[in-house]
Amino acid sequence: MPVEQRPLAVVTGASAGIGEAISRRLSEEGFRVLLGARRLDRLEVIAAEIGGEARQLDVTSGESIRDFCAGIEEAAVLVNNAGGARGLEPVASAQLDEWRWMWEVNVLGLVAMTKALLPALERSGRGHVVNLSSTAAVEVYEGGAGYTAAKHGVNAITKTLRLELAGRPVRITEVCPGMVETDFSLNRFGGDRERAEAVYRGLDPLQPEDVADVVAFAVTRPFHVNLDQVVMRPLMQASSFKVVRES
Ligand code: NAP
Repeated sequence: MPVEQRPLAVVTGASAGIGEAISRRLSEEGFRVLLGARRLDRLEVIAAEIGGEARQLDVTSGESIRDFCAGIEEAAVLVNNAGGARGLEPVASAQLDEWRWMWEVNVLGLVAMTKALLPALERSGRGHVVNLSSTAAVEVYEGGAGYTAAKHGVNAITKTLRLELAGRPVRITEVCPGMVETDFSLNRFGGDRERAEAVYRGLDPLQPEDVADVVAFAVTRPFHVNLDQVVMRPLMQASSFKVVRES
């Protein structure tokens, strides 16, 4: 099918990690992919490789979202993937700037993007919102409250939206991965590579392609099938605080 006739998939946070892998995989699945993130140079390289389109996007800016979404009449898939964590402080010493960042990107950014594209998703007659949540949406761990509270928020918003859209042609899926080897920890720990690499050492973490596989499965089911929530972890990670490592 010519690219311009393919169903449109919009992926936020597509410049790296899980969002990049999802963009590549959805292109292989026959979608025309619109990639959004702040680092346009990286997006353009990926978009050129997969025959997609790159547009700069900051999900915390209403103006940026408006520019990004301009001209989108119909969209089949929106993957709200932009997000991440900052810090690992106990609540007693919470860094509110870090909390604010996590809430703005993971929660308010997701709401703003969903709000902006819901009419286009509905117009397609086969819309699908996929929210990149986390095991942090279904369990908590010490030092993680800023992130777990934000992802619990994503969980609540996803379930609420499913209720509100019942009977309309938009599916809602929440994908909740455990540890995935990306720049997530590097960004969480302010560029401390040693500390970030230690997170994934000796446990065979999930790869971004593993998550993309689940997203591809969800969006290619017959349209009457809605996958509500998928929780996935590395085999060696039984929970956020029970990880078995090979030395
Ligand atoms: P990553 O490698 O750090 O990628 C984060 C992506 O989000 C980047 O493409 C980044 O692009 C984008 N982003 C950040 N702020 C943005 C903003 N304001 N506007 C638009 N894009 C923004 O991390 P990742 O592991 O792939 O994370 C992707 C998603 O999966 C996140 O929601 C994360 O919470 C979730 N997740 C990750 C893990 C894990 O272990 N890695 C586990 C569970 C869930 P720019 O910097 O170019 O804007």
